[in-house]
Amino acid sequence: MLVHICCSVDSHFFLEKLQKEFPEEKLTGFFYDPNIHPYSEYRLRYLDVQRSCKKLGIDLLEGEYDFENWLDAVRGLEKEPEKGARCEVCFDKRFDVSAHKALELGEKKMTTTLLVSPLKSQEQLKRVGDAFHKKHGVEFIAVDYRADGGTQDQSRVTKEEQLYRQDYCGCIFGLTMQREQQDRLMDEMFSPINNRTLPASIEERLAMYTKRMEFEDEGKPYRIVRQKFLNYRQFSCTLTKGKTTSIPAHALAYSTLSRKRAQGKIEYSIDNVHYMNRDEIRFITLEHYNRLAESSFENVRELIFNAPTFEIELMVRQKIVALPYDLTPIVVVDTIPEGKLTLSLDAKTYEDTKEYLISL
Ligand code: SF4
Repeated sequence: MLVHICCSVDSHFFLEKLQKEFPEEKLTGFFYDPNIHPYSEYRLRYLDVQRSCKKLGIDLLEGEYDFENWLDAVRGLEKEPEKGARCEVCFDKRFDVSAHKALELGEKKMTTTLLVSPLKSQEQLKRVGDAFHKKHGVEFIAVDYRADGGTQDQSRVTKEEQLYRQDYCGCIFGLTMQREQQDRLMDEMFSPINNRTLPASIEERLAMYTKRMEFEDEGKPYRIVRQKFLNYRQFSCTLTKGKTTSIPAHALAYSTLSRKRAQGKIEYSIDNVHYMNRDEIRFITLEHYNRLAESSFENVRELIFNAPTFEIELMVRQKIVALPYDLTPIVVVDTIPEGKLTLSLDAKTYEDTKEYLISL
């Protein structure tokens, strides 16, 4: 039986139930979810499904990430709410490709973990599945594992197995609406020009869940714990002298400016730190930055495109301002500029939750 899989939270419980109910069937998982955005999130969900299938002894196939085709399918439905017409098309597309995969592989039966999703009407899936059966001869197995406390059992399994729990359905349109309603920054869509892995980003989680799989392969005990913290994202930073002269500038992580723009002059210097007369802004030269970060950047442009890790930059910040929770704008420049300066800095701090992998 081919089992279309959407995510580990839905599939682990679902596959366990199928194994019990159909012990004679050889189950093959099929991960086909081009709706998931961004691609790093797709990889993360696939990674956790790989882990889950490995644990359950189930072969897993990966479908094509044909994102453009998926976009074409939902065109015109971008503004539809969740559970609306876009979701119908999204479910049907994933179902259809999976049913054709079952046909291609010569499977006699197929099903989908979408059946445990509260977003989808089981009756409608069954209708589509039965129509496919009539036409192509692949039987659709419409199990109902949500009933009789199934939803609670699924939550228990998710917790026990420490599965990756995504907090949005999958597509960019649903994510955008969800974050707007929550009045939350859509930090999933950040892709820094310096390729830095940001705190609590998808990339950071992907690295952590990959490490977790290594721990499991080596038989190392571990625990994933969650922690609240103050997160930070920087949208842009520009520095100009006078009206038009642009100066390459790099603002350290956790630099914030309440009105996003400040004008002033550098007034004095203490121990290689240069103080502007507005908004507590400080400047350091790249030479000083290199000393503190033990780096060897040749110019600020190079630093902008290849900035060291977030952790190194926090260490640099702490060497300049000893206070914890400091949000002072600290700007790195090649040489300290004179005259009237305008700093534009768009950045946001916000409460967030982070997962840690602890080796026991
Ligand atoms: S919200 Fe979920 S089900 Fe609906 S279109 Fe987006 S990914 Fe598909």
